[in-house]
Amino acid sequence: MLVCTSCKKEWGEESRPWRCSCGGPLVVGGGVVPFNRGMIRRNEQGMWRYRAALPAGEVCEPVSMGEGWTPLVREPWPGLNLFFKLDYACPTGSYKDRGMAYLVSRIAGLGVREVVEDSSGNAGASMAAYCARAGIGCRIFVPGYTSAGKCVQIESYGGILERVPGSREDTTRAAERAAETTYYGSHNWSPYFAHGVKTFALEIWEQLGFRAPDALLLPAGQGSLVLGCVLAFEALKAAGEIPALPRIYALQPEGCAPLHSAFVKGMDVPDRIEKRETIAEGISSAEPVRGREVLAAVRKSGGAVLSCSDGAIWQGFLALARRGYFVEPTSAIVFPALRQLSERGLLRTGETVAAILTGSGLKGTDKIVALLGH
Ligand SMILES: *Cc1c(COP(=O)(O)O)cnc(C)c1O
Ligand SMILES: [Zn+2]
Repeated sequence: MLVCTSCKKEWGEESRPWRCSCGGPLVVGGGVVPFNRGMIRRNEQGMWRYRAALPAGEVCEPVSMGEGWTPLVREPWPGLNLFFKLDYACPTGSYKDRGMAYLVSRIAGLGVREVVEDSSGNAGASMAAYCARAGIGCRIFVPGYTSAGKCVQIESYGGILERVPGSREDTTRAAERAAETTYYGSHNWSPYFAHGVKTFALEIWEQLGFRAPDALLLPAGQGSLVLGCVLAFEALKAAGEIPALPRIYALQPEGCAPLHSAFVKGMDVPDRIEKRETIAEGISSAEPVRGREVLAAVRKSGGAVLSCSDGAIWQGFLALARRGYFVEPTSAIVFPALRQLSERGLLRTGETVAAILTGSGLKGTDKIVALLGH
């Protein structure tokens, strides 16, 4: 059963709604289901070891490439017990594979044969790959500015690529029009996506020896990592596995920071902003559809929403690369954010902190070359 986050109306899953008739986003109903270490399927590959934590996860047929169980790497940092979670090591090069593997598994089970999606690139590439495996036809709408690597990926997997001139929001509107006749599989609207994503947080907990970190750093456009994180840690808390939710620090680029602006002003919903260009293309969302939930989750965790300049993100990209991590500029935002949090005294000496590296730099070499000044 699905429930509207806005008016609480309930929907059957077989009717395959992508949002409520009131316009509100849907979530899987049933409340928090406790998850403990005894429920881990130790002989299953990747994120599917947590299938007992996924709604209907025990009965659905996984469309999978073994995504998940990515490395958690200890990283030297003054005063901190810091770890990087290398989710750019997923099959299509971004953490989106977690959400997509589960989303596509569920819609395949519901009999969907054709799907429309809009994406800044990584979600589209991931959807095209998993749809290819499930035998589902897909049409992916991306903004005209999307990195070449992601577009090439979508077409190689056999997805129909539609480049839309203008903003990310124009892309969404084009996809919604196309979805009038096809299933709209938008990962941002889907009630399933965040459940797949939450497995990154369950892994961090298990890889730390069944302990939650004190704080997490998560790049945020629509905020799926924030929402996934909350789903995971609430399930662990309900089972008595952890005493409290870790603090969540959601990170946005200065050029597109509606959640940061709302957080600073004490607003409950994303602020209306004038969007500027940013090198963090993966988190450039001016109108996050679940923004209200994301803001509430960050506040409840005792964390904050931060913003970083493109200059600082680019320096972060270089610093990460010099440490051996070749991520896309979007993901590099965790580096300046770590500095900012330390300087503002928000991370205390000796705390355990996890930062996720979300996407591979190999997809964005066209833009990286330009930034390197070649
Ligand atoms: C999608 C994406 C994010 C964050 O996603 P949201 O759900 O929009 O917050 C972060 N990094 C990369 C590389 C992404 O592709
Ligand atoms: Zn509703």
